[in-house]
Amino acid sequence: MPEYVGSKLSPLPYESAFSQVARVVMLNEMSAAQFLRLAGRTREDRHWDVSNSRFVPIDEFQWRPSGADLSSRRHSIFDIRFSSETLRVCDQCIAGMYHSLWHQCWIISECPLHRCPLRTVCRHCNQPYGNYSFSEAVKNRFSCRHCASSLSMEPATIVRHLNLCRAADSVEVAFADFYRQLLTITATGRRLSYLEKRFPFREVNAWWPESRSYWDVMRDVGFVHRQQAERPLGLTWLVWPSSHQDIFQHRNEVDLVYSETLHLLKRWLTDRYPGLTGTGERPELFDEHGIPRTDLWPPEFLALMLLRQHVEKDPQSWGLHTAVPGVPRTSLFDLICRTCWKRNFSRSTGCARAEFFQAMVYGRFAALYWAAKNGVMNRKRFQWDDYVVPCFWEQRTWEPNIGAVAFPTIDGMPLGRFNPSPLRLKDAVEVLYRDGLSRNRESVAMRRA
Ligand SMILES: [Zn+2]
Ligand SMILES: [Zn+2]
Repeated sequence: MPEYVGSKLSPLPYESAFSQVARVVMLNEMSAAQFLRLAGRTREDRHWDVSNSRFVPIDEFQWRPSGADLSSRRHSIFDIRFSSETLRVCDQCIAGMYHSLWHQCWIISECPLHRCPLRTVCRHCNQPYGNYSFSEAVKNRFSCRHCASSLSMEPATIVRHLNLCRAADSVEVAFADFYRQLLTITATGRRLSYLEKRFPFREVNAWWPESRSYWDVMRDVGFVHRQQAERPLGLTWLVWPSSHQDIFQHRNEVDLVYSETLHLLKRWLTDRYPGLTGTGERPELFDEHGIPRTDLWPPEFLALMLLRQHVEKDPQSWGLHTAVPGVPRTSLFDLICRTCWKRNFSRSTGCARAEFFQAMVYGRFAALYWAAKNGVMNRKRFQWDDYVVPCFWEQRTWEPNIGAVAFPTIDGMPLGRFNPSPLRLKDAVEVLYRDGLSRNRESVAMRRA
């Protein structure tokens, strides 16, 4: 094993490969190839996601103090579902050349060691850090990849690192509570795994703020499951009981429900941005390349216009004013009602009529809103299919079926018949959980018979 500067330093508890790589290459002026050789890795590891990977054992000496067995059991808790895709740093820790796997985890929003809010955006150039692969960690070390400023207020130094090393025990203790919390959430997730199968998490991650849909949904459902629904939830859940009856009786019903929902959204927008009423019936929505004009409009307004373009039949107007008076005719009833449904879960055939349609319109609006707000639409040709509505539908043997649509809360958004909600998430989860238990008992009884 070749000698290198820092080879006698033990890893800090829960240290990520990001700070390890950045520290070793910085102290040794090492190239990517040299590090890979040192760590016994191959050239293919250039794209390795170091910010979400654990510290790499380079030689036995480094590894001995933390105890390899204990560490790997403990590190198995860092499930990719709870990890951020973008680098998150604590100002103080990163100045001490330390980045923790806990910093990447959604359970934590401020570093428990220093009470610093975790940062994902460079404070010098305002650009998001994004994900740091192995190559980027080698190239940028503890600096922003865009402007090369330090990831912390002060440059990262080995003196600060040594101070952190001396306090390694307190690092361990600081994260202990979160370890327990994450264990609980993982256990809840197992019990409610039906949700995991039903939610199109991967597609939703494309527009959900910072790709955290799995964590948000599981946390909310987890709280509810433990009967703590009093706590204000970060998600808006539209939950409703529905009959087994399939599809609307009258086509007209859809148009009426849509009109009502649209009216509520328009009134809310008019109150929020009175200036937008003067933008005419057809404000500019796409540029010549089919890219939405996120630079011109607030995300709420852009979402409304896109929604109208999508749902209405040959819309003459898509702003806050409607050219043709009367009830707008919806055209993509099938798309909202059927395709989304089938995409999300194939065995469902039901449709909860008015509640269902309204929830889908709200869900679609929310997906568009968050995509516009997070810059997902910038510089990108617009494709409807990219904005999947997250929902689930549980068919029950006995009435009622239960439908749900969830999205990150939009402040002040009017929720029509979902305010108050026809069904609370707490009740729905309870009912579904009991269904699951009795199905389980039935199948055990069948096997015994
Ligand atoms: Zn810290
Ligand atoms: Zn920067």
